[in-house]
Amino acid sequence: MKPRRISFSPLVLCLLVLVAGVSSGCSKQTPSEASAEIKPAATTNAPLATPAVTPLTDSGSAAPKPDINGNRVMQYVKEIVAFGGRPPGSPAHAKLEQYIHSKLKGVDVENDTFTAKTPVGTFPMNNIIAKFPGKKDGIIVVAGHYDTVYHLKNFVGANDGGSSTALLLALGDQFRGKTLDGYSVWLVWTDGEEAFVKWTDTDSVYGTRHLAQKWQRDGTAKKIKAFILIDMIGDADLDIQQETNSTPWLSELVYQAATNLGYQSHFYQYKAPIEDDHMPLLKIGVPAVDIIDLDYGYNNVFWHTPQDTVDKLSPQSLAISGDVVLETIRLVNAR
Ligand SMILES: [Zn+2]
Repeated sequence: MKPRRISFSPLVLCLLVLVAGVSSGCSKQTPSEASAEIKPAATTNAPLATPAVTPLTDSGSAAPKPDINGNRVMQYVKEIVAFGGRPPGSPAHAKLEQYIHSKLKGVDVENDTFTAKTPVGTFPMNNIIAKFPGKKDGIIVVAGHYDTVYHLKNFVGANDGGSSTALLLALGDQFRGKTLDGYSVWLVWTDGEEAFVKWTDTDSVYGTRHLAQKWQRDGTAKKIKAFILIDMIGDADLDIQQETNSTPWLSELVYQAATNLGYQSHFYQYKAPIEDDHMPLLKIGVPAVDIIDLDYGYNNVFWHTPQDTVDKLSPQSLAISGDVVLETIRLVNAR
């Protein structure tokens, strides 16, 4: 994904210093263009009005409180990272596709295969879609990318690529073998999210651009009630931004879900516009939200580096993200 502006940690530090009443030169620094428009929410408008908290029991369902097993998700991350870097066209990518399929035995799985033209040649790509039927007419999509960056050496993408792939597998474990009370849930492992050379509209999100076109053509788009994207959700220091391209009501529902579960301190301390796999869906009118923590290590230093390794993640963060996704699904169903 691509942040329009990054590097907000120094501004946060400035804010803390200013709040403490200490004179500091840091507010005089010229922020880079990249960081210019990231402002801590507390100094702008509050991210959200205090949301009306929906008690867990009010939808009439006896759904248990979400309880994703973070250790299990972490185990999946480790197994995924063991394949090495997983860019499209690589042997590790093919192995990961097989691995994902091996975890979806007995599930209705669609492979959305296509060939993508990139600035460095054509690549086979495959969005993997696991469909879990529900009683209500409509679909909630939970998506995350499983490819890793093409052009980085020694990159294994534990958080960027690994965490989303793993959490989707754990969500599949939750849904397998049941008819869901609410809308159908489709889990989508998206391919080709990463740019091959440099992030542009045409060199990024190959998989979801292809899916959005296809879903618009075949009428699926109209049935999608919510497209919930997860990306980089395993950071031990979990700090999900309020991604400002996202559909407002759905973004607020995610915050409400986090609040219902007592996890709101990990959500929406900062606002940021981030381009990611949800953009093609937004463009065709599908409500979409990006649940992303693009503050990975101090000043995002682990992002797209060989330091994106399993030791930076925690089972707790993976569980919190998973639980919030499940609670968000419940809230979309209760709408
Ligand atoms: Zn990335």
